[in-house]
Amino acid sequence: MDALAAFLADCAGFLDEAGLVTDPADRRRFEVDVWRQDEGRAAAVVRPRDVAEVRRVVAAAFRHRVPLVPQGGNTGLAGGGLPDGSGRMVVLSLERLRRIRHLDPAGEYLVAEAGCVLAEVQEAAARMDRTFPLDLGAAGSCRIGGNVATNAGGIHALRYGTMRRLVLGVEVVLADGSLLDRLHTLDKDNRGYALEQLFVGSEGTLGVVTAASLRLVPRPRHRLTAWLAVPEAAAVVEVFRRTRDRFGELLVACELLSEAAVDLVVGRLGARRPVAAPCPWHLLLELAWGFDLPLEDAFTAHLAELMEGGPVADGTLALDEGKRRALWAIRERVSEAAARAGRVVRSDLAVPTARVPELLAEAEALVARLLPEARPIPFGHLGDGNIHLNVLVPPERLAEGHAKLREPLADLAVRLGGTFSAEHGIGRHKRALLARHARPGELAVMAALAALFDPRGILNPGVLLPDGLTPWRAGEHGPEGLSARAGPSPASGGGDGGRR
Ligand code: FAD
Ligand code: ZN
Repeated sequence: MDALAAFLADCAGFLDEAGLVTDPADRRRFEVDVWRQDEGRAAAVVRPRDVAEVRRVVAAAFRHRVPLVPQGGNTGLAGGGLPDGSGRMVVLSLERLRRIRHLDPAGEYLVAEAGCVLAEVQEAAARMDRTFPLDLGAAGSCRIGGNVATNAGGIHALRYGTMRRLVLGVEVVLADGSLLDRLHTLDKDNRGYALEQLFVGSEGTLGVVTAASLRLVPRPRHRLTAWLAVPEAAAVVEVFRRTRDRFGELLVACELLSEAAVDLVVGRLGARRPVAAPCPWHLLLELAWGFDLPLEDAFTAHLAELMEGGPVADGTLALDEGKRRALWAIRERVSEAAARAGRVVRSDLAVPTARVPELLAEAEALVARLLPEARPIPFGHLGDGNIHLNVLVPPERLAEGHAKLREPLADLAVRLGGTFSAEHGIGRHKRALLARHARPGELAVMAALAALFDPRGILNPGVLLPDGLTPWRAGEHGPEGLSARAGPSPASGGGDGGRR
């Protein structure tokens, strides 16, 4: 029996019927990305029910040296949650670990298992009059483990930071099946290295996250949302600055859309134009606060100042929740509209906010020069300088688009003092870019960490680290990493599914 068959036989011994998916049709949803641009082929999908089963699966993979691909909601945009095309990898889906283990309104945290859908966690927080502030277009399907593993950003990162700032602790199954319980719940806790942070953004390469303790914040009771049309790219930064200067941290979102992006949502999805006339750039601003003081007059006055001889040509204020949702839907449905129009070369660039106008202008020129048939549809989180410089291409030219545009766009962002991966991670798509733009020491330390945590190379091989960096690939199995020192194995120690 080969290693894969032996692994599957072991798993069949303890997983229930729904826990082991081998039928090709049933496997499909775990093998294709949300926009159907990316796909791999898995040997099987395993769906453990609790932490104890996750530990047994991982221990079996370690024993038989079978590569595992941890997966949450499969909404990731860097290909990191999908198997490669070999048909030899096993997808480890965490979607059945769905318990919210603990809610603490006084301590302002909750402990959620990896498979909890982000929207459910937001709702649980709201029920106790708190907010879990991470929010993104995929909130209805992405899962907490995936949010941790990608260090997700989203629309409120400007105010509350990325996932990194919201994670207080994690529980992780390590490569040999042992458990690392680092579910700290305090803001201030300096017991040694910040181990929990190592797993934030690790994209499944250092361990399998099974739960996380998450910071909650007071719930805003008031919101003001405005859509502004801005003719000049240079002026979007001015609008952001002036609003930030005036309202400080009450500005929780500042999103940018190009006319091309708005036009797609209007044309393909039938959305209503928020302002009458087309305009090169649009901003979606939102203020949110919890104290009982009205700010509508101050905000309206601010918008009037921006419009009277200022940088804003037109605008509209959402006076009710229906209008607010309609405005946000335009922002959140850009990718859906683009998927109907063609294929998309995605990018996730960030530069210092002041340099966003340069990024927009230079990227547009670059695309026009390298692939004139393509159509840039930039949008993103202006407040973070994070622009998704996505480019629409005809379906048959996707591979060409990737080949021609990925590297120059990344180089451009780096030249402007920024990054080619602001919030989506490296995944399978950007490993070469990581190598290309690495700073001294970075890759060596990453490789050393990977070797320590994953000595047999079973945790998401082919994701994040560039080829040639991982010692197991060179056939140099060093000391068995953490396994020599690990705690009790799942066989002897049992799982810890419900302690908290
Ligand atoms: P998956 O896609 O399942 O996995 C992502 C990565 O995490 C993979 O490398 C996988 O191996 C690893 N992983 C998953 N679960 C675990 C685990 N339990 N333990 C270890 N590793 C694990 N992202 C943003 O940051 N900001 C946005 O604004 C944003 N908007 C989006 C809008 C839309 C419409 C869509 C489709 C996606 C958007 N994304 C955004 C990308 C995506 O939603 C996030 O990256 C999200 O955090 C991924 O979560 P997931 O559960 O779907 O992870
Ligand atoms: Zn984004």
